[in-house]
Amino acid sequence: MFFLGHMAWGYVWAVVFAGRRGGKLFVPAVLMLSVLPDVDLFLGGFGVGHHTFFHSIFFWVVMFVPAFVIFRGKVVPYLAAVVQHFAFGDFVVGAVMLFWPFSLSYFGFSAAMMSVFDVALEIVGFLLAVGVMFFNGDLRRLLSVEKRNVLMVFPLLALVSSMLFFAVDVPVIPLVAHLLVSPVFAVIVLAHIVLVVFLAISTMQGLRKFRFRNF
Ligand SMILES: [Zn+2]
Repeated sequence: MFFLGHMAWGYVWAVVFAGRRGGKLFVPAVLMLSVLPDVDLFLGGFGVGHHTFFHSIFFWVVMFVPAFVIFRGKVVPYLAAVVQHFAFGDFVVGAVMLFWPFSLSYFGFSAAMMSVFDVALEIVGFLLAVGVMFFNGDLRRLLSVEKRNVLMVFPLLALVSSMLFFAVDVPVIPLVAHLLVSPVFAVIVLAHIVLVVFLAISTMQGLRKFRFRNF
């Protein structure tokens, strides 16, 4: 699954787990957490394999213990954003060491990236996320002049770098390398562009707040 699907479904799952607090999620954090397990793509030099322990439930539950102690139930939607990355996204489109360290087997349906199934799942997640954002007010908040929106620059940079330098899963190839390879390419690229524009506008709106405050 591309960062597009991970971010979209990460937001949707976080809202589901937030319940009534759904409208008060800190969206830049949700989006970053939903792609965070893929930092293992850059840790190969340290002997960390992609889709290994960074894609395990146990690892992230342990990582979240300090946050649980401090913020209690409020962290549940954020943990959901991380866990859905590999227990839903990479599990359906790929296979991961879900139960590390208890089992070193890879679990998943191993659907191929850029398959019609993958693209459909990502687009459904994207449309669902936009719909939920519209109805719970997050869309309006994220497009208004608010200081916190400047942090949308982080998911923006993550998404753009995923498009230019790697396509999230093995083999590590950029999204642009799929050009002319698949007829579904246009759909997934168009969705990426829409999300990039949205994140950029949100970031700019955050920056505007800083300008008005300081000058
Ligand atoms: Zn992953």
